[in-house]
Amino acid sequence: MHQKEEILQEDKMATKTYKRTDGRKNDELRSPILAKVGVIPNADGSAMFQIGKTIAIAAVYGPRKMHPQHSQNPEKGTLRCTYNMNSFSVEDRIRPGPSRRSTEISKITEWAIEPVLMIGEYSSQVIDVHINIIQADAGTRCAGINAAAMALAHAGIPMKDLVSSVSVGKMDKTIVLDLDKYEDSEFKEGEGSTDIPITFTHGGEITHIQLDGKINSKQLKETIEMARKAAEEIYEIQKKALKEIGKWKHQISQEIESRNIYK
Ligand code: ADP
Repeated sequence: MHQKEEILQEDKMATKTYKRTDGRKNDELRSPILAKVGVIPNADGSAMFQIGKTIAIAAVYGPRKMHPQHSQNPEKGTLRCTYNMNSFSVEDRIRPGPSRRSTEISKITEWAIEPVLMIGEYSSQVIDVHINIIQADAGTRCAGINAAAMALAHAGIPMKDLVSSVSVGKMDKTIVLDLDKYEDSEFKEGEGSTDIPITFTHGGEITHIQLDGKINSKQLKETIEMARKAAEEIYEIQKKALKEIGKWKHQISQEIESRNIYK
């Protein structure tokens, strides 16, 4: 078949083959999307991010001196992310403690976030970000990154930009946004499922992309554009949550002022 005809044929099949089980449009994020900042009072910064049935909580501690001393980097600070999926986060209890998967996701989270941090300002110090997935229905690394970015901003760590993360994928030949657990791991028809988590700065730069499955370059471009638009939606939700905490702080300080507590 002529190459152009082949592409047209693919295009025709592209939106018909897969119908989402939850009734979402192909480019629709799961709901609800909830974001809240300041959920762990003892942390220097914290945030919760929920998308559909996936819920992540991030807590930031630091910046503080890195111990042991030989791990200190005198030229820049260290962003240390620890991703953990709680044993009760999925239906069948999972073994607590670190795994290959959690170690990989922790590293990826650091790579996704570090480009927007002014990490050079924190020589010999460490910023710890603990991410806990309390409910998992796919897209947990993205939810964790979204929560972590808000928690870092809440901790007052200077950032060049926020980051927003979303997964996009291909079910056989159909491009879809924000895969749920069935789409991520259980769909097996045709070419099966391809999962592509991507993280963007608000400026639209990609700080992290992973690809698990098969996809051609034309479809990859399409998925990236779909994810970019969705990341903007997520950014607005993160920004609103961060502004909310500003409002509370303002309300609290007005309250203190009106009661003349320190006068
Ligand atoms: P992500 O959550 O970032 O999409 P994966 O693709 O590795 O990462 O996992 C997809 C989903 O599979 C998870 O969100 C979770 O619902 C489920 N899952 C992952 N690991 C396990 C596990 N060890 N036991 C049960 N379910 C798991």
